[in-house]
Amino acid sequence: MRARHTGGNPAESSEPTSGKLPKEPRSVLEGLGGFPGGRVFGSEPWVDLSRPAGHTPLVVSFRKSMWEFLSMSFFFQSPNVTWLLMSMMYYWLLPYQTTGPTVESSLIRLVANLTLMGAYYGFFYFSLYVKDWGKRKFTPGSFPLPINMAHNVYYWALGVIQWTAYEVAMEKVWASGIVEAASFESLLADPRKMLLNALVLLAIPIWRDVHFYSAHRFIHIRAIYRLVHSLHHRNTDPEPFSGMCMHPVEHLYYFSNALVPCIYASGLTPLAFHWIGFHLTFAPAAGHSGFEDHFGSDQYHQIHHATFESNYGSPNSAFIDRWFGTFRETLGKSSEYKGEWKAAEDAKKNAGKVWSAQGRLGPWASWAQGAYDASALAIACAAARAMYQGGRTEGEAAAVALLAAAGPVAAAFAVNAARGDKMSPWWPFQKERLGLAYTVVTVVLFCVVPVFHFVKWASMA
Ligand SMILES: [Zn+2]
Ligand SMILES: [Zn+2]
Repeated sequence: MRARHTGGNPAESSEPTSGKLPKEPRSVLEGLGGFPGGRVFGSEPWVDLSRPAGHTPLVVSFRKSMWEFLSMSFFFQSPNVTWLLMSMMYYWLLPYQTTGPTVESSLIRLVANLTLMGAYYGFFYFSLYVKDWGKRKFTPGSFPLPINMAHNVYYWALGVIQWTAYEVAMEKVWASGIVEAASFESLLADPRKMLLNALVLLAIPIWRDVHFYSAHRFIHIRAIYRLVHSLHHRNTDPEPFSGMCMHPVEHLYYFSNALVPCIYASGLTPLAFHWIGFHLTFAPAAGHSGFEDHFGSDQYHQIHHATFESNYGSPNSAFIDRWFGTFRETLGKSSEYKGEWKAAEDAKKNAGKVWSAQGRLGPWASWAQGAYDASALAIACAAARAMYQGGRTEGEAAAVALLAAAGPVAAAFAVNAARGDKMSPWWPFQKERLGLAYTVVTVVLFCVVPVFHFVKWASMA
Protein backbone atom coordinates (compact mmCIF):
# COMPACT_ATOMS: atom_id res chain seq x y z
CA MET A 1 0.00 0.00 0.00
CA ARG A 2 1.45 3.36 -0.96
CA ALA A 3 1.51 6.01 1.74
CA ARG A 4 0.43 9.62 1.31
CA HIS A 5 2.91 12.43 1.25
CA THR A 6 2.97 14.37 4.48
CA GLY A 7 4.27 17.83 5.22
CA GLY A 8 6.72 16.46 7.75
CA ASN A 9 10.27 15.45 7.08
CA PRO A 10 11.98 12.12 7.32
CA ALA A 11 12.79 11.34 10.90
CA GLU A 12 16.32 11.90 12.10
CA SER A 13 18.09 8.59 12.06
CA SER A 14 20.49 7.23 14.59
CA GLU A 15 22.42 5.61 11.73
CA PRO A 16 26.13 6.24 12.24
CA THR A 17 27.65 8.45 9.58
CA SER A 18 31.26 7.39 9.81
CA GLY A 19 32.86 4.16 8.76
CA LYS A 20 34.81 2.57 5.96
CA LEU A 21 33.46 3.53 2.59
CA PRO A 22 33.63 1.64 -0.68
CA LYS A 23 36.29 2.90 -3.06
CA GLU A 24 35.46 5.48 -5.72
CA PRO A 25 35.69 4.29 -9.34
CA ARG A 26 39.27 4.28 -10.59
CA SER A 27 39.23 3.18 -14.19
CA VAL A 28 38.38 5.76 -16.86
CA LEU A 29 35.64 3.50 -18.16
CA GLU A 30 34.06 2.99 -14.75
CA GLY A 31 31.10 5.30 -14.32
CA LEU A 32 31.46 6.55 -17.91
CA GLY A 33 28.45 8.70 -18.82
CA GLY A 34 27.06 8.50 -15.28
CA PHE A 35 25.56 5.02 -15.68
CA PRO A 36 26.05 3.02 -12.45
CA GLY A 37 27.73 -0.24 -13.48
CA GLY A 38 27.00 0.62 -17.11
CA ARG A 39 23.23 0.41 -16.49
CA VAL A 40 20.42 2.96 -16.12
CA PHE A 41 19.21 1.35 -12.87
CA GLY A 42 21.51 0.20 -10.11
CA SER A 43 23.63 1.66 -7.32
CA GLU A 44 26.76 3.77 -7.66
CA PRO A 45 29.97 2.08 -6.49
CA TRP A 46 30.40 4.54 -3.61
CA VAL A 47 27.06 3.59 -2.06
CA ASP A 48 27.23 1.36 1.02
CA LEU A 49 24.40 -1.08 0.38
CA SER A 50 24.31 -2.15 4.02
CA ARG A 51 22.95 1.29 4.95
CA PRO A 52 19.49 2.68 4.16
CA ALA A 53 19.21 4.76 0.98
CA GLY A 54 20.64 8.25 1.44
CA HIS A 55 22.70 7.27 4.48
CA THR A 56 26.09 6.67 2.84
CA PRO A 57 28.02 9.79 3.87
CA LEU A 58 28.99 11.97 0.92
CA VAL A 59 32.70 12.64 0.79
CA VAL A 60 33.34 16.18 -0.43
CA SER A 61 36.22 18.64 -0.28
CA PHE A 62 37.74 21.50 -2.22
CA ARG A 63 40.64 19.26 -3.28
CA LYS A 64 38.30 16.52 -4.48
CA SER A 65 36.27 18.99 -6.55
CA MET A 66 39.42 20.51 -8.06
CA TRP A 67 40.69 17.04 -8.93
CA GLU A 68 37.37 16.19 -10.58
CA PHE A 69 37.59 19.38 -12.64
CA LEU A 70 41.22 18.87 -13.65
CA SER A 71 40.86 15.19 -14.47
CA MET A 72 37.60 15.94 -16.35
CA SER A 73 35.86 13.18 -14.42
CA PHE A 74 33.15 15.72 -13.54
CA PHE A 75 32.32 15.64 -17.25
CA PHE A 76 33.02 12.15 -18.55
CA GLN A 77 32.37 10.02 -15.45
CA SER A 78 29.05 11.71 -14.85
CA PRO A 79 25.75 12.23 -16.68
CA ASN A 80 27.15 15.45 -18.20
CA VAL A 81 28.64 13.77 -21.26
CA THR A 82 25.40 11.83 -21.81
CA TRP A 83 23.32 14.99 -21.56
CA LEU A 84 25.66 16.84 -23.97
CA LEU A 85 25.24 14.07 -26.56
CA MET A 86 21.46 14.20 -26.09
CA SER A 87 21.50 18.00 -26.42
CA MET A 88 23.53 17.73 -29.67
CA MET A 89 21.03 15.25 -31.10
CA TYR A 90 18.13 17.47 -30.14
CA TYR A 91 19.85 20.52 -31.63
CA TRP A 92 20.58 18.63 -34.84
CA LEU A 93 16.88 17.74 -35.12
CA LEU A 94 15.65 21.26 -34.37
CA PRO A 95 18.35 23.97 -34.72
CA TYR A 96 17.66 27.55 -33.69
CA GLN A 97 16.25 30.09 -36.14
CA THR A 98 19.14 32.54 -35.94
CA THR A 99 17.52 34.65 -38.65
CA GLY A 100 14.62 35.28 -36.29
CA PRO A 101 11.66 33.34 -34.91
CA THR A 102 8.22 33.12 -36.48
CA VAL A 103 4.97 32.22 -34.74
CA GLU A 104 5.13 28.82 -36.45
CA SER A 105 8.76 28.11 -35.47
CA SER A 106 8.04 29.17 -31.88
CA LEU A 107 5.04 26.84 -31.63
CA ILE A 108 7.04 23.95 -33.11
CA ARG A 109 9.75 24.53 -30.48
CA LEU A 110 7.18 24.64 -27.69
CA VAL A 111 5.58 21.38 -28.83
CA ALA A 112 9.03 19.75 -29.23
CA ASN A 113 10.11 20.87 -25.75
CA LEU A 114 6.90 19.67 -24.13
CA THR A 115 7.16 16.33 -25.95
CA LEU A 116 10.85 15.57 -25.36
CA MET A 117 11.01 16.89 -21.80
CA GLY A 118 7.70 15.17 -21.05
CA ALA A 119 9.11 11.90 -22.39
CA TYR A 120 12.32 12.23 -20.32
CA TYR A 121 10.58 13.15 -17.06
CA GLY A 122 7.83 10.65 -17.82
CA PHE A 123 10.42 7.89 -18.28
CA PHE A 124 11.77 8.37 -14.77
CA TYR A 125 8.28 8.67 -13.28
CA PHE A 126 7.00 5.59 -15.12
CA SER A 127 10.04 3.41 -14.43
CA LEU A 128 10.33 4.31 -10.74
CA TYR A 129 6.75 4.95 -9.64
CA VAL A 130 4.76 2.64 -11.95
CA LYS A 131 7.15 -0.20 -12.85
CA ASP A 132 9.14 -0.13 -9.55
CA TRP A 133 12.52 -0.50 -11.29
CA GLY A 134 14.22 1.47 -8.50
CA LYS A 135 14.84 -0.53 -5.34
CA ARG A 136 16.25 2.08 -2.97
CA LYS A 137 13.79 4.87 -2.23
CA PHE A 138 15.11 7.65 -0.02
CA THR A 139 11.84 7.79 1.95
CA PRO A 140 10.43 4.26 1.78
CA GLY A 141 6.65 4.00 1.50
CA SER A 142 6.06 7.63 0.50
CA PHE A 143 4.50 8.15 -2.92
CA PRO A 144 2.78 11.16 -4.56
CA LEU A 145 -1.00 11.41 -4.81
CA PRO A 146 -2.68 12.43 -8.10
CA ILE A 147 -3.18 15.98 -6.70
CA ASN A 148 0.56 16.15 -5.97
CA MET A 149 1.28 15.14 -9.55
CA ALA A 150 -1.22 17.69 -10.93
CA HIS A 151 0.52 20.40 -8.91
CA ASN A 152 4.01 19.38 -10.00
CA VAL A 153 3.15 18.88 -13.69
CA TYR A 154 1.32 22.25 -13.83
CA TYR A 155 4.33 24.25 -12.58
CA TRP A 156 6.70 22.02 -14.58
CA ALA A 157 4.74 22.97 -17.75
CA LEU A 158 5.00 26.68 -16.86
CA GLY A 159 8.76 26.11 -16.71
CA VAL A 160 8.83 24.51 -20.17
CA ILE A 161 6.82 27.43 -21.56
CA GLN A 162 9.13 30.00 -19.97
CA TRP A 163 12.27 28.26 -21.20
CA THR A 164 10.80 28.19 -24.72
CA ALA A 165 10.16 31.96 -24.39
CA TYR A 166 13.86 32.37 -23.45
CA GLU A 167 14.85 30.47 -26.60
CA VAL A 168 12.55 32.46 -28.88
CA ALA A 169 13.76 35.77 -27.39
CA MET A 170 17.36 34.60 -27.92
CA GLU A 171 16.59 33.86 -31.59
CA LYS A 172 15.36 37.45 -31.85
CA VAL A 173 18.54 38.82 -30.26
CA TRP A 174 20.72 36.75 -32.63
CA ALA A 175 18.71 37.94 -35.63
CA SER A 176 19.14 41.59 -34.59
CA GLY A 177 22.94 41.21 -34.72
CA ILE A 178 23.36 42.54 -31.14
CA VAL A 179 24.77 39.08 -30.29
CA GLU A 180 26.67 37.08 -32.91
CA ALA A 181 25.58 33.48 -33.52
CA ALA A 182 28.59 31.63 -34.93
CA SER A 183 27.74 29.08 -37.62
CA PHE A 184 29.39 25.62 -37.66
CA GLU A 185 31.04 26.57 -40.99
CA SER A 186 32.72 29.58 -39.35
CA LEU A 187 34.01 27.36 -36.53
CA LEU A 188 35.46 24.85 -39.00
CA ALA A 189 37.27 27.69 -40.77
CA ASP A 190 38.80 29.07 -37.57
CA PRO A 191 40.58 26.57 -35.25
CA ARG A 192 40.92 29.13 -32.42
CA LYS A 193 37.18 29.79 -32.47
CA MET A 194 36.54 26.03 -32.55
CA LEU A 195 38.79 25.50 -29.51
CA LEU A 196 37.06 28.31 -27.60
CA ASN A 197 33.66 26.78 -28.31
CA ALA A 198 34.82 23.30 -27.27
CA LEU A 199 36.16 24.68 -23.96
CA VAL A 200 32.90 26.53 -23.32
CA LEU A 201 30.88 23.34 -23.94
CA LEU A 202 33.09 21.43 -21.48
CA ALA A 203 32.97 24.18 -18.85
CA ILE A 204 29.19 24.61 -18.91
CA PRO A 205 28.48 22.05 -16.12
CA ILE A 206 30.91 23.94 -13.85
CA TRP A 207 29.23 27.24 -14.63
CA ARG A 208 25.83 25.61 -14.02
CA ASP A 209 27.02 24.69 -10.54
CA VAL A 210 28.47 28.11 -9.73
CA HIS A 211 25.36 29.92 -10.96
CA PHE A 212 22.93 27.51 -9.32
CA TYR A 213 24.68 27.80 -5.97
CA SER A 214 24.21 31.59 -5.88
CA ALA A 215 20.72 31.74 -7.39
CA HIS A 216 19.49 28.92 -5.16
CA ARG A 217 21.00 30.35 -1.98
CA PHE A 218 19.48 33.74 -2.81
CA ILE A 219 15.93 32.40 -3.10
CA HIS A 220 16.32 30.82 0.35
CA ILE A 221 16.43 34.33 1.83
CA ARG A 222 13.21 34.47 3.85
CA ALA A 223 11.64 37.44 2.02
CA ILE A 224 11.88 35.56 -1.27
CA TYR A 225 11.60 32.01 0.00
CA ARG A 226 8.10 32.46 1.45
CA LEU A 227 6.65 33.86 -1.79
CA VAL A 228 8.73 32.05 -4.42
CA HIS A 229 10.94 29.08 -3.55
CA SER A 230 8.62 27.55 -0.91
CA LEU A 231 6.57 26.26 -3.86
CA HIS A 232 9.46 24.04 -4.99
CA HIS A 233 9.97 22.88 -1.40
CA ARG A 234 6.41 21.61 -1.02
CA ASN A 235 8.08 18.47 -2.31
CA THR A 236 9.78 17.37 0.92
CA ASP A 237 10.09 14.00 -0.79
CA PRO A 238 10.46 14.85 -4.50
CA GLU A 239 9.47 12.90 -7.61
CA PRO A 240 10.84 13.58 -11.14
CA PHE A 241 8.39 16.33 -12.24
CA SER A 242 9.02 18.23 -9.01
CA GLY A 243 12.49 18.99 -10.38
CA MET A 244 11.16 21.84 -12.50
CA CYS A 245 8.06 22.52 -10.37
CA MET A 246 8.98 26.09 -9.44
CA HIS A 247 7.31 29.47 -9.07
CA PRO A 248 7.72 31.32 -12.41
CA VAL A 249 9.92 33.93 -10.69
CA GLU A 250 12.26 31.10 -9.68
CA HIS A 251 12.25 29.88 -13.30
CA LEU A 252 13.25 33.40 -14.42
CA TYR A 253 16.42 33.49 -12.31
CA TYR A 254 17.18 29.78 -12.70
CA PHE A 255 17.13 30.01 -16.52
CA SER A 256 19.24 33.21 -16.47
CA ASN A 257 22.15 30.75 -16.18
CA ALA A 258 22.09 30.43 -19.98
CA LEU A 259 22.60 34.18 -20.55
CA VAL A 260 26.19 34.12 -19.32
CA PRO A 261 28.24 33.59 -21.43
CA CYS A 262 25.84 33.35 -24.38
CA ILE A 263 24.69 36.99 -24.61
CA TYR A 264 28.12 38.45 -23.83
CA ALA A 265 30.72 36.27 -25.55
CA SER A 266 31.25 36.87 -29.23
CA GLY A 267 31.49 33.95 -31.66
CA LEU A 268 29.73 31.24 -29.67
CA THR A 269 27.71 28.60 -31.45
CA PRO A 270 23.98 28.60 -30.56
CA LEU A 271 24.59 25.00 -29.47
CA ALA A 272 26.19 26.44 -26.29
CA PHE A 273 22.88 28.12 -25.40
CA HIS A 274 21.00 24.93 -26.23
CA TRP A 275 23.37 22.83 -24.12
CA ILE A 276 22.97 25.04 -21.02
CA GLY A 277 19.21 25.02 -21.57
CA PHE A 278 19.23 21.24 -21.92
CA HIS A 279 21.16 20.91 -18.66
CA LEU A 280 18.79 23.32 -16.90
CA THR A 281 15.63 21.60 -18.09
CA PHE A 282 16.53 17.89 -18.26
CA ALA A 283 18.96 17.34 -15.37
CA PRO A 284 16.41 18.03 -12.57
CA ALA A 285 14.29 15.00 -13.56
CA ALA A 286 16.63 12.27 -12.30
CA GLY A 287 18.04 14.54 -9.59
CA HIS A 288 14.58 14.79 -7.98
CA SER A 289 13.56 11.16 -8.52
CA GLY A 290 13.25 10.26 -4.85
CA PHE A 291 15.37 7.13 -5.50
CA GLU A 292 19.05 6.45 -4.96
CA ASP A 293 19.77 3.70 -7.48
CA HIS A 294 19.72 4.97 -11.06
CA PHE A 295 21.38 7.23 -13.62
CA GLY A 296 21.49 10.85 -12.45
CA SER A 297 20.20 10.31 -8.91
CA ASP A 298 21.19 12.99 -6.42
CA GLN A 299 21.48 12.25 -2.71
CA TYR A 300 22.93 15.71 -2.13
CA HIS A 301 19.80 17.47 -3.37
CA GLN A 302 17.46 14.94 -1.74
CA ILE A 303 19.00 15.98 1.60
CA HIS A 304 18.31 19.61 0.66
CA HIS A 305 14.60 18.83 0.11
CA ALA A 306 14.38 16.90 3.37
CA THR A 307 16.16 19.49 5.51
CA PHE A 308 15.67 22.78 3.62
CA GLU A 309 18.58 24.92 4.83
CA SER A 310 21.53 22.87 3.65
CA ASN A 311 23.29 21.61 0.51
CA TYR A 312 22.45 24.51 -1.79
CA GLY A 313 24.57 23.33 -4.74
CA SER A 314 25.83 19.93 -5.85
CA PRO A 315 28.57 17.60 -4.57
CA ASN A 316 31.08 19.49 -6.73
CA SER A 317 30.24 22.83 -5.11
CA ALA A 318 29.72 21.27 -1.68
CA PHE A 319 33.00 22.72 -0.45
CA ILE A 320 31.25 26.14 -0.44
CA ASP A 321 28.52 24.69 1.79
CA ARG A 322 31.23 23.35 4.08
CA TRP A 323 32.80 26.82 4.32
CA PHE A 324 29.42 28.31 5.29
CA GLY A 325 28.54 25.44 7.67
CA THR A 326 25.51 24.32 5.63
CA PHE A 327 26.82 20.96 4.41
CA ARG A 328 24.97 17.77 5.33
CA GLU A 329 26.67 14.53 4.32
CA THR A 330 23.70 12.21 4.85
CA LEU A 331 19.99 11.99 5.55
CA GLY A 332 19.52 11.77 9.28
CA LYS A 333 21.97 13.25 11.77
CA SER A 334 24.86 15.25 10.34
CA SER A 335 28.16 15.70 12.12
CA GLU A 336 29.07 18.69 9.91
CA TYR A 337 25.95 20.89 9.84
CA LYS A 338 26.05 24.26 11.66
CA GLY A 339 23.15 26.05 9.94
CA GLU A 340 19.83 27.41 11.13
CA TRP A 341 17.46 24.54 10.35
CA LYS A 342 16.09 22.72 13.36
CA ALA A 343 14.47 19.39 12.57
CA ALA A 344 12.30 19.24 15.69
CA GLU A 345 10.81 22.72 15.16
CA ASP A 346 10.01 22.03 11.54
CA ALA A 347 8.44 18.67 12.28
CA LYS A 348 6.20 20.33 14.90
CA LYS A 349 5.17 23.06 12.48
CA ASN A 350 4.21 20.56 9.82
CA ALA A 351 2.60 18.02 12.11
CA GLY A 352 -0.65 16.67 10.68
CA LYS A 353 -0.40 18.64 7.44
CA VAL A 354 -0.91 16.67 4.29
CA TRP A 355 1.34 17.73 1.44
CA SER A 356 -1.56 18.39 -0.93
CA ALA A 357 -3.23 20.77 1.51
CA GLN A 358 -0.49 23.22 0.58
CA GLY A 359 -1.15 22.81 -3.16
CA ARG A 360 -1.53 25.94 -5.23
CA LEU A 361 -3.97 24.85 -7.89
CA GLY A 362 -6.73 26.46 -5.83
CA PRO A 363 -7.15 29.95 -4.38
CA TRP A 364 -4.13 31.72 -2.92
CA ALA A 365 -3.23 30.79 0.62
CA SER A 366 -2.78 34.43 1.70
CA TRP A 367 -3.39 37.98 0.49
CA ALA A 368 0.40 38.44 0.42
CA GLN A 369 0.86 35.57 -2.03
CA GLY A 370 -2.02 36.84 -4.19
CA ALA A 371 -0.59 40.37 -4.27
CA TYR A 372 2.88 39.06 -5.08
CA ASP A 373 1.74 36.74 -7.86
CA ALA A 374 -0.41 39.51 -9.39
CA SER A 375 2.59 41.88 -9.44
CA ALA A 376 4.85 39.18 -10.92
CA LEU A 377 2.26 38.44 -13.61
CA ALA A 378 1.96 42.16 -14.47
CA ILE A 379 5.76 42.41 -14.79
CA ALA A 380 5.88 39.28 -16.99
CA CYS A 381 3.13 40.64 -19.28
CA ALA A 382 4.89 44.01 -19.67
CA ALA A 383 8.23 42.33 -20.49
CA ALA A 384 6.69 39.76 -22.86
CA ARG A 385 4.79 42.50 -24.75
CA ALA A 386 7.90 44.65 -25.17
CA MET A 387 10.02 41.70 -26.33
CA TYR A 388 7.34 40.39 -28.70
CA GLN A 389 6.72 43.76 -30.34
CA GLY A 390 10.37 44.91 -30.30
CA GLY A 391 11.46 48.24 -31.73
CA ARG A 392 11.60 50.03 -28.36
CA THR A 393 13.95 52.99 -27.90
CA GLU A 394 16.95 52.33 -25.64
CA GLY A 395 15.33 54.25 -22.76
CA GLU A 396 11.99 52.44 -23.04
CA ALA A 397 13.71 49.08 -23.34
CA ALA A 398 15.92 49.80 -20.29
CA ALA A 399 12.86 50.72 -18.20
CA VAL A 400 10.99 47.49 -18.95
CA ALA A 401 14.20 45.47 -18.56
CA LEU A 402 14.87 46.95 -15.11
CA LEU A 403 11.31 46.09 -14.10
CA ALA A 404 11.71 42.49 -15.34
CA ALA A 405 15.17 41.93 -13.82
CA ALA A 406 14.81 43.55 -10.39
CA GLY A 407 11.03 43.97 -10.01
CA PRO A 408 10.31 40.45 -8.65
CA VAL A 409 12.94 40.85 -5.91
CA ALA A 410 11.79 44.38 -4.97
CA ALA A 411 8.15 43.21 -4.89
CA ALA A 412 9.04 40.28 -2.60
CA PHE A 413 10.78 42.55 -0.07
CA ALA A 414 7.87 45.06 -0.27
CA VAL A 415 5.18 42.39 0.29
CA ASN A 416 7.22 40.80 3.07
CA ALA A 417 7.55 44.17 4.84
CA ALA A 418 3.84 44.94 4.35
CA ARG A 419 2.78 41.66 5.99
CA GLY A 420 4.66 42.68 9.17
CA ASP A 421 7.07 39.74 9.35
CA LYS A 422 8.90 39.77 12.68
CA MET A 423 11.81 37.63 11.50
CA SER A 424 14.75 38.99 9.56
CA PRO A 425 14.00 39.07 5.81
CA TRP A 426 17.55 37.69 5.37
CA TRP A 427 17.00 34.56 7.51
CA PRO A 428 18.71 31.99 7.55
CA PHE A 429 21.78 34.00 6.55
CA GLN A 430 21.19 37.03 8.82
CA LYS A 431 24.20 36.19 11.01
CA GLU A 432 26.57 35.93 8.07
CA ARG A 433 28.52 38.74 6.51
CA LEU A 434 30.72 37.12 3.92
CA GLY A 435 28.23 34.46 2.85
CA LEU A 436 25.36 36.91 2.46
CA ALA A 437 27.51 39.45 0.64
CA TYR A 438 28.76 36.69 -1.69
CA THR A 439 25.21 35.60 -2.42
CA VAL A 440 23.82 39.08 -3.09
CA VAL A 441 26.75 40.26 -5.22
CA THR A 442 26.84 37.10 -7.34
CA VAL A 443 23.07 37.10 -7.86
CA VAL A 444 23.21 40.68 -9.12
CA LEU A 445 26.07 39.75 -11.49
CA PHE A 446 24.84 36.29 -12.56
CA CYS A 447 21.05 36.83 -12.67
CA VAL A 448 19.79 40.41 -12.42
CA VAL A 449 22.25 42.13 -14.79
CA PRO A 450 22.05 39.42 -17.53
CA VAL A 451 18.22 39.39 -17.41
CA PHE A 452 18.30 43.19 -17.67
CA HIS A 453 20.49 43.13 -20.80
CA PHE A 454 18.56 40.24 -22.35
CA VAL A 455 15.14 41.88 -21.96
CA LYS A 456 16.54 45.22 -23.05
CA TRP A 457 18.12 43.86 -26.22
CA ALA A 458 15.12 41.69 -27.11
CA SER A 459 12.83 44.71 -26.65
CA MET A 460 14.99 46.83 -28.95
CA ALA A 461 15.36 44.11 -31.61
ZN1 LIG B 1 15.92 25.06 -2.09
ZN1 LIG C 1 14.96 20.75 -5.82
